[in-house]
Amino acid sequence: MSRIWVLGAGQLGQMLKHAGMPLDLDVRPVDIESEETFPLLPHEQVTAEREQWPDTAATRQLSAHPAFVNLDTFPVLADRFTQKSLIDKLGLATAPWQLVATDTSAEELHQQLGERVLLKRRTGGYDGRGQHWLRDPGQDAIPDDWHEQAIAEQAIDFDEEMSVVGMRGADGQCFFYPLTLNLHVNGILLGSVAPLARLAHLQAEAEQMLATLMNDLDYVGVMAMECFRVGEHLLINELAPRVHNSGHWTQAGASVSQFEAHLRAVAKLPLVEPRVKNLSVMVNLVGVDKDDAWLSVPGAELYWYGKEVRPGRKVGHINFCLSNHADTKAALDQLQPMLPAHYVQGL
Ligand code: ATP
Ligand code: MG
Repeated sequence: MSRIWVLGAGQLGQMLKHAGMPLDLDVRPVDIESEETFPLLPHEQVTAEREQWPDTAATRQLSAHPAFVNLDTFPVLADRFTQKSLIDKLGLATAPWQLVATDTSAEELHQQLGERVLLKRRTGGYDGRGQHWLRDPGQDAIPDDWHEQAIAEQAIDFDEEMSVVGMRGADGQCFFYPLTLNLHVNGILLGSVAPLARLAHLQAEAEQMLATLMNDLDYVGVMAMECFRVGEHLLINELAPRVHNSGHWTQAGASVSQFEAHLRAVAKLPLVEPRVKNLSVMVNLVGVDKDDAWLSVPGAELYWYGKEVRPGRKVGHINFCLSNHADTKAALDQLQPMLPAHYVQGL
């Protein structure tokens, strides 16, 4: 049985482990806080479920391993400054931006980027954390410790948010899932839907953008690209060098899930074009207690992460991949009263 080590033991690591079982892959997620060392053999591959990690005995050991796939990509994409610089270098569309330098003022950012400017911490932000809006030219100011630590982006009046998840093998071959429509509430992904026929005409553009990035990085595995649709074009919002929440629907809706695809690429097993089944809907469970009643909804495929429930924390998701839209709608209608009020509009 081949073994693959995963730096990080959150839900993504656990779902990689789950996906490895039928492939006879022994996937070992490793807690990034661990001060233990692990029986890592020279031929075993190492991957990650996150783009950044603290300095601990476990992360030192794994990141020093010669077979750590994509090791050089993580620092480039973990820092929004180097990530946006890469997107610019490759001539790909993204929100206009600049570094918040030591002497940058809010006034200058408004002059360069417009009336609404979004500051984003260079590292560590997720689920809308690490962001600060400047919406009031003449009034607002850059928080003190954000100089050199943030980038500033022009606010994009996007029509909707979507993402594409792709995979690349060590031989350079790439495959993609269809564009996924994402609904964010308060900066957190609430749900995703894919595939949608009305987005199909944007698929080639999305694939070309993500392929350009993966090829430039000589990347191996699954990468996600979050985008804004503005009219008939896409702007890249951000990249994740890992399996991604907006690809969770592939567990129900594709012949090869994003987790399996990542493992196949890392383990140098054959990669294929994933066959997409029917319309899939993924509902994130954010800050809610587990409710076994969810299991009574026909077609509901629950993934509960076993984490402590806290407000705003992703603690699970439910996938649906039913044979027709009427059944999907009926299932969501049945689920909705079992979730907090703020799900009503999204569902
Ligand atoms: P994630 O949890 O996906 O990693 P994040 O918190 O790291 O997210 P972003 O994806 O960059 O950060 O931003 C979160 C959300 O903020 C986006 O999904 C989008 O709704 C909004 N947003 C980000 N950038 C812009 C922008 N330039 N203009 C308008 N809205 C934006
Ligand atoms: Mg995001």
